[in-house]
Amino acid sequence: MNDFVLPGDKIGFIEEIGSGSNTFDDGDTIRASTAGILTIDKKAKLAQVENGKQLSIPKKGDIVIGSVSAVLSSMIAVVIHYINGKPNHSGVECICQNPDKRRILARVNDIVALRIEAHLNGAIHATMDEPELGVLFTKCNSCAGSVVPLRDRVKCPNCGYMEERKISSNYEKADFLKLRE
Ligand SMILES: [Zn+2]
Repeated sequence: MNDFVLPGDKIGFIEEIGSGSNTFDDGDTIRASTAGILTIDKKAKLAQVENGKQLSIPKKGDIVIGSVSAVLSSMIAVVIHYINGKPNHSGVECICQNPDKRRILARVNDIVALRIEAHLNGAIHATMDEPELGVLFTKCNSCAGSVVPLRDRVKCPNCGYMEERKISSNYEKADFLKLRE
């Protein structure tokens, strides 16, 4: 039995089933205390709701926002903080290939928007190859000041440092800043 339940949803009667994790007993009924996947352990007669990592893994097509944790020559790794605008605290990472090794897509700690493409060999693959995808927020690599986005790079008005980036068309847009609060 695999069902998605919402908080308060009825799972069964206390005579039939015990209250496992993320469920509660309201006197005669077992109900879900969180949104998640209901699993029933028939042997132990225990109901539980799983809301952990299973639901925190983005699916193909999802838009994720995260911070760059590593930059390698052919790819970047990103710790996901939002999946389709919803906060995610599982620490799950995805990778984004960089086919042109000479090009700098992003730097460590940049905030980027990506679209999930596939799950391959245990890794979650994403792309930033769309106008609204790419770097949403970054700082000057030289003086840590705020930078101005140009077409395919950022420029620091403070020290003049310029560096390549794959800039999102949503760079520093209000709805993203709202997400950061
Ligand atoms: Zn600077």
